[in-house]
Amino acid sequence: SLKGKTAVVTGSNSGIGLGVAKALAAEGADVVLNSFTDTDEDHALAEEVGSEFGVTARYIKADMSKADECRALIEKAGACDILVNNAGIQHVAAIEEFPVEKWDAIIAINMSSVFHCTAAALPMMRKAGWGRVINIASAHGLRASPFKVAYVAAKHGVVGMTKVAGLETAKDPITVNAICPGYVLTPLVEGQIPDTAKEYDISEDEAIEKVILAKQPSKEFVTLEQLGGLAVFLCSDAAAQITATTLSADGGWTAQ
Ligand code: NAD
Repeated sequence: SLKGKTAVVTGSNSGIGLGVAKALAAEGADVVLNSFTDTDEDHALAEEVGSEFGVTARYIKADMSKADECRALIEKAGACDILVNNAGIQHVAAIEEFPVEKWDAIIAINMSSVFHCTAAALPMMRKAGWGRVINIASAHGLRASPFKVAYVAAKHGVVGMTKVAGLETAKDPITVNAICPGYVLTPLVEGQIPDTAKEYDISEDEAIEKVILAKQPSKEFVTLEQLGGLAVFLCSDAAAQITATTLSADGGWTAQ
């Protein structure tokens, strides 16, 4: 059970972050949900998760594109036994047309936030004598696809950072790992279907079939429940010697 532990999940008012937060809450962890939006829905969502799983669930606003807000999120949480670095965005375009502001935003949100949140959380974990850092990287942390220059660079960076942080905490009761999902049908993937169709000059159905799931031999999307289960496993005693590495859930993608 994760009773008595506090999990901070960045970017968790949607998709994988919310799925992982719910899976940890189902094991008894108190959870901190985060996004940069700070809407009534965000606060209601935290209340919902809290009452559904009988845990303390809070919403804390922080923009993961800003270093000080990343660090403030961990400070405001007050405790951080489990840090799930999940916030991420995508943009699909060829390098020559790739907007500079999208490059900067993806590097900041998908990669630099992992550095800032980890730096703020490790002292708390060392003090508590237990900790888990779970980085939601991607199959794109291990493989490349065209038109995703910033995302692939950021996710490779996250995988590299996972190894360094795992080594720096190897003698502590802390593990640092990256989960590398293949395609999961979340708003992030739904949003890139039209752009993918445009880049390849095909229909949206063909984009799913021929481009997106073409990478994934299982021909099935990975589910939120499967990723939640992996995060719970990484928090278990059975996973205590798994550190500084990647766990793929990609239907066979990265075997190719
Ligand atoms: P999503 O769009 O559903 O969720 C993204 C989350 O990040 C949202 O909660 C959003 O509020 C938050 N976010 C975005 N910008 C933020 C900012 N500046 N500050 C704080 N929060 C911010 O997408 P998702 O698919 O659930 O993606 C979650 C993570 O999983 C990302 O890191 C993504 O790269 C990774 N991932 C997704 C897939 C997939 O197929 N969906 C595959 C591999 C990895």
